[in-house]
Amino acid sequence: MSTDCIFCKIIKGDIPSKKFHEDDEVIAFNDIRPIAPVHFMIVPKLHVESLADCDAVHRDLLGRILLLVPKLAKEQGLNGFRTMINTGHEGGQEVFHLHVHVFGGGQTLPKT
Ligand code: 5GP
Ligand code: ZN
Repeated sequence: MSTDCIFCKIIKGDIPSKKFHEDDEVIAFNDIRPIAPVHFMIVPKLHVESLADCDAVHRDLLGRILLLVPKLAKEQGLNGFRTMINTGHEGGQEVFHLHVHVFGGGQTLPKT
């Protein structure tokens, strides 16, 4: 828990979100500025700043998050989806609490 972290505040319930999944380690909620018809984020409850701050201790957590991606994507009606983990300022990361973006819906996404 980091007191000035927006995602920690969402996890605590201090900031509202369109949350649709919660378990003991992870939550998932819709992005406030979606870039696709369906755009949500899977976020560990543990405050870890980024993927670059993960090590072997986080292996199970990372595996759990990745395995949730197709499950939650299907529940949200996606047949295919794109995942994105922005890491560091140069990687376009804006919120420094690890999260996996999942988006899709509507049309085939352009090639990156
Ligand atoms: P990043 O660029 O760090 O990978 O992504 C951060 C994402 O968090 C952005 O897509 C942004 O729209 C989203 N975001 C920022 N603040 C909030 C918020 O208060 N609520 C929700 N639901 N999403 C947020
Ligand atoms: Zn946090």
